[in-house]
Amino acid sequence: MTPSSQTLKAPINWTAAITLLGTPILSMIAIPLYAYHHDFSLSAWISLFFLLAFSSLSITAGYHRLWAHRAYEASLPLKIILMIGGTFAIQNSILYWASGHRTHHRHVDDVEKDPYSIKKGFWYAHLGWMIRDYPAAEANYKNAPDLMNDKLVMFQHKYYVPLVIAVHSIILLSVGWAVGDIWGVILLGGLLRLVLSHHVTFFINSLCHMFGKRPYTDENTARDNFWLAIATWGEGYHNYHHIFQYDYRNGVKWWQYDPTKWLIWTCSRFGLARNLRRIPSLNIKKAELAMKFKYAEQDLAIYGHHVSEDFHNMKHRIAQEYEAFTHTLNDMAKLKEQEMLAKKQRMTEKLHQMDDKLKLEFQLIEQRLQHHRARLEIMVKSLPKATPPSA
Ligand SMILES: [Zn+2]
Ligand SMILES: [Zn+2]
Repeated sequence: MTPSSQTLKAPINWTAAITLLGTPILSMIAIPLYAYHHDFSLSAWISLFFLLAFSSLSITAGYHRLWAHRAYEASLPLKIILMIGGTFAIQNSILYWASGHRTHHRHVDDVEKDPYSIKKGFWYAHLGWMIRDYPAAEANYKNAPDLMNDKLVMFQHKYYVPLVIAVHSIILLSVGWAVGDIWGVILLGGLLRLVLSHHVTFFINSLCHMFGKRPYTDENTARDNFWLAIATWGEGYHNYHHIFQYDYRNGVKWWQYDPTKWLIWTCSRFGLARNLRRIPSLNIKKAELAMKFKYAEQDLAIYGHHVSEDFHNMKHRIAQEYEAFTHTLNDMAKLKEQEMLAKKQRMTEKLHQMDDKLKLEFQLIEQRLQHHRARLEIMVKSLPKATPPSA
């Protein structure tokens, strides 16, 4: 029996199937019917937005960046809030979700081992992988010993179903009672919110591996997509996320729309989060520039044939620039070695002079990288019809 025929015969997970297929159908019937007979109050619509934000951000900041990637540390009160919001999103327990997600990063695009491999198509990556009980690549949560030792995570895992019922009853009934529209809040803040928050998260596994640019790496299918970042509370910068998964930011540039990073940063200002992990900017620039060179070469190969003389000149200039860039990278590696050495020595004696010298050299390297980028951008602009391929 081949592995693919094995997976085809995986048994249907009825709980997931009923939840994931039943809720959209129910909302399509119940919400228009209720609106026709009773109309929704403005408060019920507002509850939809706030409860959507609460459950979705608990998945992105909690399940994803805190528990799956350990991109920062959270205080107990924040962890409890994120656990409650994550339970409210009905996406299974933290342990199950984070362990599966770690497997996704480790085996991304592997048809058999990536739990939501886009190579099996949009519907499989979006939803299909949950409808059947496919055998897990990392059974028994072997890739999550840290979570197995986390009391809060294990408490939620053990009492997941009663917690889902309790969290829904308490939140929906209390909000509904407070605004005087219990059925409106149940249908919009409960049902419609759940369907939306599900598909918003699922887009990250499907669309964020299909549409968008790859500015940092083309070794996997993950894409950066501004429009998907809007829909997914900042997770749409998925190309950056797949190369630097431990960074607490997905939209790494300050201007990129990533409400999850703003939330985590704000929590850190209030003492609720700490040790926010950031990838050093030099490493980010290195990845970005390497990709720019790659695209420039690809563009030349595609469009350069028409202009034979210019083509050769341009190819030569890009090769030269690439060599200079490689030199800079080598210098950067050497400098990093020196930095490590200085750190070791600093353990025994104070070496401020060494620190200053290193700082200056790092600044110079950064300037050189910027210089490469500027030159490369001029070259790319002068390419005939140079459109960086996004796929
Ligand atoms: Zn992914
Ligand atoms: Zn991730």
